[in-house]
Amino acid sequence: MQQAISPIRTTCPYCGVGCGVLATPLPDGGLAIKGDPDHPANKGRLCVKGAALGETLGLKGRLLDPMIHGKRSGWDQALDLVASRFRETIAAHGPDSVAFYVSGQLLTEDYYVANKLMKGFIGSANIDTNSRLCMASSVAGHKRAFGTDTVPGLYEDLECADTVVLVGSNLAWCHPILYQRLAAAKEERGTRIVVVDPRRTATCDIADLHLTLDAGTDAALFNILLAEIERRGLIDDDVARGLDGMEQALGAARETKAAATGLPQPDLTRFLDIWTESERVVTVYSQGINQSDSGTDKVNAILNCHLATGRIGRPGMGPFSVTGQPNAMGGREVGGLANMLACHLDIENADHRDAVRRFWNAPRMAEKPGLKAVDMFRAVEDGRIKALWIMGTNPAVSMPEAERVARAIKGCDFTVVSDIVADTDTTRLADVLLPATGWAEKDGTVTNSERRISRQRRALPAPGRARDDWRIMADVAGRMGWRDAFAWETPAQIFAEHAALSGIAGTLGSDFDISGYRDASGQDYDLMSPFLWPQSPARRGGRFFGDGRFHTPSGRARMVAVAPAILRPVDLAAPFTLNTGRVRDHWHTMTRTGRAARLSRHIAEPFLEIHPRDAARLQLSPASLAQVENAQGRCILRVLVTDRVAPGHPFAPIHWSGESSSAGRVSALVSELADPISGQPASKSAKVNIRAFRAV
Ligand code: SF4
Repeated sequence: MQQAISPIRTTCPYCGVGCGVLATPLPDGGLAIKGDPDHPANKGRLCVKGAALGETLGLKGRLLDPMIHGKRSGWDQALDLVASRFRETIAAHGPDSVAFYVSGQLLTEDYYVANKLMKGFIGSANIDTNSRLCMASSVAGHKRAFGTDTVPGLYEDLECADTVVLVGSNLAWCHPILYQRLAAAKEERGTRIVVVDPRRTATCDIADLHLTLDAGTDAALFNILLAEIERRGLIDDDVARGLDGMEQALGAARETKAAATGLPQPDLTRFLDIWTESERVVTVYSQGINQSDSGTDKVNAILNCHLATGRIGRPGMGPFSVTGQPNAMGGREVGGLANMLACHLDIENADHRDAVRRFWNAPRMAEKPGLKAVDMFRAVEDGRIKALWIMGTNPAVSMPEAERVARAIKGCDFTVVSDIVADTDTTRLADVLLPATGWAEKDGTVTNSERRISRQRRALPAPGRARDDWRIMADVAGRMGWRDAFAWETPAQIFAEHAALSGIAGTLGSDFDISGYRDASGQDYDLMSPFLWPQSPARRGGRFFGDGRFHTPSGRARMVAVAPAILRPVDLAAPFTLNTGRVRDHWHTMTRTGRAARLSRHIAEPFLEIHPRDAARLQLSPASLAQVENAQGRCILRVLVTDRVAPGHPFAPIHWSGESSSAGRVSALVSELADPISGQPASKSAKVNIRAFRAV
């Protein structure tokens, strides 16, 4: 009798919900996919993207061999070339002349190795990630308010809250399983749901109140709420004693005009009543807040309201940043951004740098923050970065001013791209292509938006000559002269090293603690069940800040005075504010979801949602083509006439690339304008002009 093959427990590689997946190998070499009923994030559910994972695994289009200048090569030849070009560049121009641009798709172990190599051995902090485009403003807001980048709450808070406010978050499409959990809680407990979004998204289907505020006025809304909290006497004296900066924050809040959001007064009043009268309130926020040139201030405007009322870190209460990528959080934990150090330590703190240097026995520790994503590609453009290694991401499509970024990469002296896909807008620009293993072939860990670490387990053999990202980097590090420090044989050993460093970081005040795994064996790692950090006995797997103790030097939280964004006058050359975002069934630049035919059935091509009044004025009929353009670029989109969007505020999805900007590459329209504190680009919107497209 044939023995049944056991399913392999792994984790979905798409959004930050981090759902558990059961992947069962099939005789044809594929995988049968089911939700893992024992995973706490999804309890057996999967959204359509997760359920279609088995349909994205075909080898068509996979990068299966190393390539040098378009020609197949052996691994030794490719790795020797990468190591020698990086070594020569560093010798001639210094460590800051090279850079890594990595990805929230990498596993924590990959991320750890990249960070160690760049910050501890090359001696530069020029490593940044596409997560910069996703949640850097939340990181900066957390650090300003709490002293560390700590997510206070858990997913179950959405299920035990009286009220959940979703700000700039289309949870139904972007975090579908969390949305399903919230919808079920509403059904069972009558949770009130408020959606704050200029656009009527699918999430509004379960909303009791939809606030269609003017785009960009979120900080004003939460300032108005803070002033109302004070007016209603909801600031408890004990709570206030644990806060710094309250008077300044209240001063800015009192000065915010009630009309600043453009909301009808009855809607605004209802929101203020609901929020202030709900003891248990969770405010969930995402890209509508983070991807703004004042994203950090917007985050702090939300945190201020929770801090002032003490509604944080207790069941059903708190601000909650939901991350876009599967391992944005793991990247933060290993310090995978240019301004961070491993284990939530601070690169600008000499004691922290020294502790990491000693732990790594690092020969040349980075002394200062490196270049954040936008600045990094600027430095590539002007020749300050002469050797660039891009891992698992497609910046020639996803970065703001994508065409300019593509030209910069093309002009770089030496570009390496590690990827699973042979042909993307970015791989076409590389000198060296390195084939990496993909989701089903990799072993490691990821962390979801609630700080839960889960295993991603290998279910299929590596195809062709693909190798794991951590191994590729370790092999290059060895060739650069650092073989002993990068001599791991398994990802379990890397995780154990990371866990040991977290124990040291804890003695320096870091909250990130997984030190229970410092002596973990390969078997412990294999058997790891999803767990929440921190692991310290006092706080095991719990919430943060409910006890009023924060991670600032004073132990008090900081409220931040937020000046509401000044709405700029209409630019006649670009009078529309284009809102950008995801669709339900595609992921980022579609290098994987584009392979599953059923995922293109929901929405098959790029489109422009435009209000009927604008469409009539521009003589755009439904299903016609519109040319959307500004100083950065242009793209052609299919017209969808709908009152889901407000006049003057059309919407277009981000996923499509195309051979040129004249297809749906919306990021070509987004400017490099970034939040000055977080460095996160304002990718959520772009000033554009629109006209009917006429083929010439
Ligand atoms: Fe994957 Fe996110 Fe869908 Fe869960 S909700 S199955 S993590 S895409």
